[in-house]
Amino acid sequence: MKCTDLAARIGKLSTPHGSFETPAFVPVIHPVKQQITPNFLKSLGFQCIITNAYITFKHYGDEARKRGIHDIVNFDGPIMTDSGGYQVLEYGKVNVTPSTMAQFELDIGSDVPVPLDKPTGYGLSFDIAKSYVNETNSNVDETIAVIRNNKSKNAGDYNTNTPDIISKDDPLSSKGELWTGTIQGAEHFDLVRQSASFLDKRGFSFFAIGSPVELMESYEFSILSRLIETTKLTISNKPIHLFGAGHPLTIPLAVALGCDTFDSASYILYAKANRYMSSAGTLRLEDLTYLPCCCPVCSYYTVKELNEEDDITRTINIAKHNLYVLKQEMSAVKQAIYDGRLWEYVLQKARSHPKLMDAIHAIKNFEYIQQGTPLFKQKAIYLFEPIDQFRPELKNFRKMLINNYSFPAKRNSLLLYPDHAVRPFYSSSILKRLYEEFPDTSICLYNPFFGLIPVEISDIYPASHNVFVKNFDEYRSTDYTEFLNLLNSFLKNHTFKSIYIVSNKFMNGLIPHLRTPESTEVKIEDFESFKVKLR
Ligand SMILES: [Zn+2]
Repeated sequence: MKCTDLAARIGKLSTPHGSFETPAFVPVIHPVKQQITPNFLKSLGFQCIITNAYITFKHYGDEARKRGIHDIVNFDGPIMTDSGGYQVLEYGKVNVTPSTMAQFELDIGSDVPVPLDKPTGYGLSFDIAKSYVNETNSNVDETIAVIRNNKSKNAGDYNTNTPDIISKDDPLSSKGELWTGTIQGAEHFDLVRQSASFLDKRGFSFFAIGSPVELMESYEFSILSRLIETTKLTISNKPIHLFGAGHPLTIPLAVALGCDTFDSASYILYAKANRYMSSAGTLRLEDLTYLPCCCPVCSYYTVKELNEEDDITRTINIAKHNLYVLKQEMSAVKQAIYDGRLWEYVLQKARSHPKLMDAIHAIKNFEYIQQGTPLFKQKAIYLFEPIDQFRPELKNFRKMLINNYSFPAKRNSLLLYPDHAVRPFYSSSILKRLYEEFPDTSICLYNPFFGLIPVEISDIYPASHNVFVKNFDEYRSTDYTEFLNLLNSFLKNHTFKSIYIVSNKFMNGLIPHLRTPESTEVKIEDFESFKVKLR
């Protein structure tokens, strides 16, 4: 893993046909009817593609076994194969057994095969969803028997016993392929936990979240986020694929929550419906006056010219444009990880749709995204509005303050002073003056986003490495609940004889809610008059 931010990581997945960088968008290629060639996908930098093993099986049969999937779709890089789960979701069932599909995927040389599963979709009752999870589990066991059998054959050992639990030094792979454990359960999070933990015990090292397509199509980003959280908490650091994620708004959220790969046929499906992707969502071609993009397609065509093309030419060109947008999205999100600005990036996206913003309010409480956020970053963090008080960097800072910070000895008084322009504050001339006026006093800066910053640690990240507008009158006290929570826990943990608050409009709104012990003397002075006095 090269770099992390929130729960996102820049990493690498290795397969028999080479490795590729993650997070990665894995475009869906139809094994029979290709309107966009794999060469075009490769030229855009998509290093891994996914195709459907079930359709390949139905259409090519033994010919596919002879030629191999790389020859069939004409792509020499890593190929993931879906096994028919999507067809099960669409049509109820497929007339092939899990072991036949598993053997077929091995025979055609899939790099990242998927066992035949029974997707739970979205909106099923708990009991029905549970029966689907059980069916998927039993399919997985049939698949594992096939993998072990092939492995034994490859090793010249014909012992076909299948252990229930596969040890780490005996990976679930017959010749280097990366089998995908597809987690079912959808919005029934207990089932998701059971499913993920079953697959983990069975030895999978690559996982996929099954059937969230309907959640994404109905913009249920909040449920999707909790589904990803449940998965991440069950299998922590293992790589995770998200099936059916091909919308420019979904990808950054899913990356931030720790998904590593995504697949979708959205680029071509949207194109067939004249849906034109943009970084803020999808637009309808008939609603456009301009093509707001600089890709080769949009540089070549006007809206009118594109509309006048025949159906196939128009579809192919919109599909190509959509792929350029997805490529741009992946590059932008990866750059945001490198820059430590993924929070800002996801928030920007969240403003494109209220349900995405709703998801941000859910994920702000996810502990695990705090753990993936580096404690020190190269760049300052930008703070704009109340939601930013929940940034992992600030939550980590406040947590450290509550659990680990102790004031220098022999200081019985506390002075709270508005966060000042000079960074770090301990080097400012005002601090010298404050110490002259208030000897034996602990001094803390305060600002709406952090809460408190003791001057002794005012140089540590991110106390001095943040940018926000310091006009405190602009901040409404009641919006910054974390400030008050921190201040009250602080006053509970540390006993002071007196507290001196240099107050401004923001602080004035909080003072009535402060829980100071009765024995503590509280003095309040207005910031403007205090400044005059200090001169
Ligand atoms: Zn374009």
